[in-house]
Amino acid sequence: MSRLSPETLKAKQTIAASLIDGRTVGTSEVYENIDPSTGRSLGDVSRAGAEQVDEAVATARTAQRSWRTTTPEHRADLLCRLADLIDAQAEELARLESEDSGKPLSQARNDAHVCARYFRFYGRAIDSYYGLSIPLRPDLHVYTRREPHGVTGHIIAWNYPLQLFARRVAPALATGNSAVVKPADETPRTALAVARLAIEAGLPPGVLNVVTGLGSEAGAALAAHPGIDHLGFVGSTRVGSLVAAAAAERVAPVTLELGGKSAHVVFADADVEKAARTAAQAILQNAGQTCSAGSRVLVHESVHAEVVERIAAHFAKVTIGPGTTDPDLGPLVSRRQQERVRGYVEGVDSGEIVFGGTVAEPAGITEGAFFTPTLIDGVDPAAPIAQEEVFGPVLTTMQFSTEEEAVALANGTAYALLGAVWTSDLSRAHRIAAEVEAGQVYVNTYGAGGGVELPFGGSRKSGYGREKGVEALDSCTATKTVVVQL
Ligand code: NAD
Repeated sequence: MSRLSPETLKAKQTIAASLIDGRTVGTSEVYENIDPSTGRSLGDVSRAGAEQVDEAVATARTAQRSWRTTTPEHRADLLCRLADLIDAQAEELARLESEDSGKPLSQARNDAHVCARYFRFYGRAIDSYYGLSIPLRPDLHVYTRREPHGVTGHIIAWNYPLQLFARRVAPALATGNSAVVKPADETPRTALAVARLAIEAGLPPGVLNVVTGLGSEAGAALAAHPGIDHLGFVGSTRVGSLVAAAAAERVAPVTLELGGKSAHVVFADADVEKAARTAAQAILQNAGQTCSAGSRVLVHESVHAEVVERIAAHFAKVTIGPGTTDPDLGPLVSRRQQERVRGYVEGVDSGEIVFGGTVAEPAGITEGAFFTPTLIDGVDPAAPIAQEEVFGPVLTTMQFSTEEEAVALANGTAYALLGAVWTSDLSRAHRIAAEVEAGQVYVNTYGAGGGVELPFGGSRKSGYGREKGVEALDSCTATKTVVVQL
């Protein structure tokens, strides 16, 4: 077993508890943070409830009054300083992330790097984010102001804790909002670590608060809190609709980033090796627990057998093990998630399991949450495994014969998050990019290394609103129009 750094040892011995106004606030009720690579406890997590959420929101309200009046230059400097601190601590943050979530260490290192990039990107962007002057009439001076909502609430998922934290919090703080964040139950430690670094960078303590705990308790209390002026949710469609309903009770605006069932559409004129390799790598990343995982591969009938064979060949080379040993494929986030994935695969009653299909016990680890890379060919497009988000290293392949059929299959689920088209025909690439219902479409590639600068989000059951890029600044602000009689 590898030796732990002193910082990691310290984090293990400490209860992960809420950070409110810069103070650690514990509770008598705790739950265990389970390492999905071993099944062992990494320490306790404090179980905040409505009372702590109240305290965090009140603190954020007070702190926002002066934070909103700081200059963009001041906020820019501070966010860039925070990015530097995150970079300096990246190795330790990556280790915590890998232990909490099971993700391979090199993927966690990349997540720490992307986390820093978000703070740097919005730090740089806020200096040049302006309202408009509207030349309505010569006797009127009309202009718009982009004003912060006030106190923003953020409820986030466990699959990319560092990235999701930064992608929600950085634009919110840059635009003069304060924030209360509820990290996922399974992965609270890096949110707390980055919030502490923000204070070290000079952020007034109450501007960014983190409440730890369970979704049904701390999460539900935050979603329903009357003091939250804007709510951002990243998670499942089921919980997202509960959160949106709670916010609707008091007409609070919400951004919902939910699930996906994205498709690669591979035509006969594509670089099929690149398409197969990219689809395989994309579903292995984070063990397939990625909202934007391209979990369906739709292949033209003339190259279908070749693509299936090539994906299986990539899967056959995959190394599996604990996240901290940096394999190609780590465990799923929990045994519960492993059971869910197993249930989907065992429920398949059409098509053929070409590769994998079982839980894995690498190096004799029996308490881990591992699942083999799995390829299922020829499933019924209406089957649950072809329609629902499995959230595991499971790819389904299907055939099409015409472009129309390919588009109908690609758009044939309740989700609309991402898509990819693989072809050497430029006109067809643009045609399909326009027809696929998704917030992002990739042509002859997939994913953009975090995509900090690229607007991101979905429609239908994938949610609404956009994060990332400059568009996130719009969703963190409300436009006020001022009309002055000259
Ligand atoms: P989840 O919906 O179970 O949990 C998400 C968050 O909601 C967690 O912090 C959880 O504690 C909280 N929560 C749970 N019940 C709640 C309740 N009743 N009220 C308020 N909050 C509650 O999702 P998950 O399993 O953590 O994450 C996986 C899902 O997230 C997948 O569907 C994935 O596609 C989605 N996701 C989407 C994006 C995106 O950008 N579209 C990014 C990452 C993950």
